[in-house]
Amino acid sequence: MHDLTRCVQHPEVSQEGFRSLAVPTYRASTITYEDGESFAARSQRGFDGYTYGLHGTPTTRTLEAQLTALHNGVRTVLVPSGQMAVTLVFLTFLMPGDRVLVPDSAYGPVRGVCRDFLAPRGIDYTIYDPLIGAGIADLIDERTKLVWVESPGSGTMEVQDIPAIVQAAKAKGVLVGCDNTWCTPLLFKPLDHGCDFAAEALTKYVGGHSDLLLGSITVKDIDLRQRMKEVLRSLGIGVSPDEVALALRGIETMGVRLAHVGRVSEAFARRLQDHPLVDRVLHPCLPSCPGHAFWVRDIKGSGGVFSIVLKPGAEIGLNPALTAMKVFAIGASWGGTRSLIAPMSVKGDRTVNPWTHEGTVLRISVGLEQEDDLWADLEALLAALAQSGARAAA
Ligand SMILES: *Cc1c(COP(=O)(O)O)cnc(C)c1O
Repeated sequence: MHDLTRCVQHPEVSQEGFRSLAVPTYRASTITYEDGESFAARSQRGFDGYTYGLHGTPTTRTLEAQLTALHNGVRTVLVPSGQMAVTLVFLTFLMPGDRVLVPDSAYGPVRGVCRDFLAPRGIDYTIYDPLIGAGIADLIDERTKLVWVESPGSGTMEVQDIPAIVQAAKAKGVLVGCDNTWCTPLLFKPLDHGCDFAAEALTKYVGGHSDLLLGSITVKDIDLRQRMKEVLRSLGIGVSPDEVALALRGIETMGVRLAHVGRVSEAFARRLQDHPLVDRVLHPCLPSCPGHAFWVRDIKGSGGVFSIVLKPGAEIGLNPALTAMKVFAIGASWGGTRSLIAPMSVKGDRTVNPWTHEGTVLRISVGLEQEDDLWADLEALLAALAQSGARAAA
C-alpha cells in the first residue's frame, strides 16, 4: 500500500480494555456498508438505523436517549437551536388553513415566526392570555390543531395551568406542545402532565456554558417523532456531533448547577422585593407572581432566571450603571456559568394582556459566581441608579 492510500485509511486499533466514561464523538457524513446488499437495503434500516451522518450518529442517539429517559418519553428529536425545536413542531403539524394558539408570554421569536412565516403561508395563529387555564376551550375551533404553552413565560414568568389546558385541548383532539426550557426535565416533565411535545432549548441549562446551540423535542408517541424526522430529512436539517458532545458533558452537571442557581435566584428575588427602586419582582416562587399556585402545585423548584421591574423613572443612568457592573455580564440567552443581566422590552410584545407596568424590566440569569459577589454587584447597580435619579432631580 502506498503512502497516499495510507493517509486516508486509518489503521484499526484495539478498543479492548478501553472503557471511558465519556461518550465518544462520532463524526460522519458517509456511513459505510459491509456489502452491496446492505447498501441497497439501507432505506429499510428505519429511523433508528444509521444511514447518513445528517440523520444521526451514536453520539446524537446517546443524547436523544438520555433526554427521552429524563422526560419519560419514547423518542427525542435533536435540532440546531431551541427556536428550531418550536418551529419544527409548527412546521410538521400545521398545514395551511390550520391554527395554533400561542401564549402572550411566549419566547419572542415564536410570535415572530407565526407572524412573519406561518401567517403569510396560510397558517393562522391566535395569541392567548397565559393565565387562561381551562378557558382555552373557548379559543379552540375546528381549525385549531396545536396549543403551545411555555411556563413560566419568557421574561415575565407567568406560570400556566398546564393540566387544565391539556384537558381542554385533549377533549377537542388538539395537540399540546410545551416549551420547557426554564424548568428542564428536572423541575417539570410536560409529557407526564399530558403534553404531546416537550421542547427545550438545550442551549440553556443542558449546555450550561454559553458555548453551544441545540434544541430538542421529546414525545411519547412514536408517530409524532417519525413525522418530525421526515420533515428534518426533507429540509436537510441535522445537528453537529461536536455540539452534542458538549451537551452530553453539560447535562452531567445540570442537576447541581440548577439546584444552585435556583436557590440563589429565589434568595435574590425575595431580597429585591423590598428595594425602594424595585416596583416588582417577577419570579414564580413569589406569591405575587401570576400563576404562583401552579408553580407550587406542578413545578419542583426554580431555575436561575427571573426579572425585576424598576419603579417608573428609576432607569435614569441605567446604561452606565450596567456597564459598571463587575460580575454580571450584559447579554441575552442564559443558563451558563456566567451571570447575565439585560433590559427587556415587554410592552411591544404583548397583544392580549397589555403590559401596564411603566418601569424598565431587567432580566437576570444567575450563574455560578460566589453569591455575595453577585449580590454586591446588584446592590451597586441599584445604588448607582438611586444616585443618578437624585442627581437628575436636583
Ligand atoms: C432561548 C430560548 C429559546 C431559543 O433557544 P435558542 O437555542 O437560542 O434558539 C426558546 N425558548 C425559550 C424559552 C428560550 O429561553
